[in-house]
Amino acid sequence: MDRVEMLFTAKEVEEQVDRLAEEILEAYNNQVPTVIAVLKGSFMFTADLLRRLPGIYAVDFIRAASYGDGTETSCHVSISLWPTVKVAGQKVLLVDDIADSGLTLKCLVERLKKEGANQVDVCVLLDKPSRRKVEFIPRFVGFTIPNLFVVGYGIDYAEKYRNLPYIGVLKED
Ligand code: 5GP
Ligand code: MG
Repeated sequence: MDRVEMLFTAKEVEEQVDRLAEEILEAYNNQVPTVIAVLKGSFMFTADLLRRLPGIYAVDFIRAASYGDGTETSCHVSISLWPTVKVAGQKVLLVDDIADSGLTLKCLVERLKKEGANQVDVCVLLDKPSRRKVEFIPRFVGFTIPNLFVVGYGIDYAEKYRNLPYIGVLKED
């Protein structure tokens, strides 16, 4: 059996989401751009964040996984769901659960720009800067954490633990 050790309580997560929403509204002068959320891990975070971001704006989803060893400079990311929303000429806020190696998000930003997006900003709930394999700095960050394997609040291990209202560290015993 695996155990989950509390890292951030539901209340702490809520406080960071409140703070992020304020930061985002201020950064865009209350005009939220097109939001594209990266499935699946960001579903709960995105739902909570967007409820705090009023206005009329498009919301769509993307699904991607990075592969390769990450030592190459070219993008190795397989995209299994591409948004149908208009990207060309748009400002995009890309929302994800975790920035780890940075490979997936860096590639997605590149792809969206290639499709003609004129600005792509990234918002992540969790950032693990010590794990970067490529240079990548998300514009909006909930929590900066060390190299831990986390679950909960949408984030899974083998599709489980997504329902937890808090963020925990998975311990194998
Ligand atoms: P990367 O930044 O390496 O391209 O990929 C980030 C993705 O790897 C995240 O969106 C998430 O799906 C997965 N990931 C990274 N760190 C963790 C973690 O601690 N726990 C879980 N469950 N997934 C993680
Ligand atoms: Mg992900």
